[in-house]
Amino acid sequence: MKDIACSVCGKPSIVNLAYAARHLCAGCFVSYFEKRFMRTVREFEMIKPHERIAVALSGGKDSVVMLHLLSKLKKKVPLELIAIAVDEGIAGYRALTLAVAKRECRKLKIPLRVLTFKDDSGFTLDEMVKRSRANACSLCGVFRRYLLNKAARMEKADKIAIGHNLDDVAQTILMNIMRNEPLRLIRFLDPLSEDEHFVPRIRPLLRTPEKEIAIYAELRGIKIAYSECPYAYQSFRRHIKRQLNETEEKYPGTKQRILGSFIEMEKHMRNGLEGSSFEVSHCSVCGEPTPTRAEKDGGICMHCKMLAELKQDG
Ligand code: SF4
Ligand code: ZN
Repeated sequence: MKDIACSVCGKPSIVNLAYAARHLCAGCFVSYFEKRFMRTVREFEMIKPHERIAVALSGGKDSVVMLHLLSKLKKKVPLELIAIAVDEGIAGYRALTLAVAKRECRKLKIPLRVLTFKDDSGFTLDEMVKRSRANACSLCGVFRRYLLNKAARMEKADKIAIGHNLDDVAQTILMNIMRNEPLRLIRFLDPLSEDEHFVPRIRPLLRTPEKEIAIYAELRGIKIAYSECPYAYQSFRRHIKRQLNETEEKYPGTKQRILGSFIEMEKHMRNGLEGSSFEVSHCSVCGEPTPTRAEKDGGICMHCKMLAELKQDG
């Protein structure tokens, strides 16, 4: 791509942004990337001055790049950052990314708190998978969200920053439609902030395509461990990801259009459902808030329900 000039400054380009019909050189790409991040934070009013933000840090490229960008934002806007990492207990995978998380937090002088599935429930994810009929990603998602929320609340955080990128968000929208989960879909962008036990979530990378995060990390010299979770092959998400990438290749801008449609639809859907769909119940076992109607599950949250099944299955 070196023979194509940067659409902004005319230097040799290194990146083709097909969805925007632009080629950019390294310098213009870095500046475009960072500006989009800051603009997204403003657009959705994600962060207010002096807020305490808990950064969900897996040590993968998305959360590490988000940590760097939030740390950059902190130079302009007064805010507090803490990082929370969850060790699910996945042999041969998580230790690698946790080492990256620890190194980057040290570098940026951001305190890090590490929580483990084992300490919370008595089981690693590997052990859960052996005992349960549920799919690894379902178990992982429920226990991770639960721990992150609890830890962020204990840290008195105002928000949890999640490193979901445009690809993740577009995949999640399609997955919820395909699974007929309209309430999950609506809660996705602006979740349950009315209950004080839920720490609101923000997704500052939601307009950033996944590929560009890897390019940015490379250009900024941010060292990332590129490893894939051994359970990823089982996931429905992986199937959707492949299909969406093929469509994006043929029809650039598809992912942005899915997000754009969703943001528009979400406003209307939320108005229509107000009052009845966002009741929050509190689990009768652990007392944590639950977005599902707990009465339906005998007053028990999904985390405690799965945990009870895990203990029984053994
Ligand atoms: Fe958890 Fe599934 Fe992601 Fe692995 S691929 S970290 S099991 S959600
Ligand atoms: Zn519970």
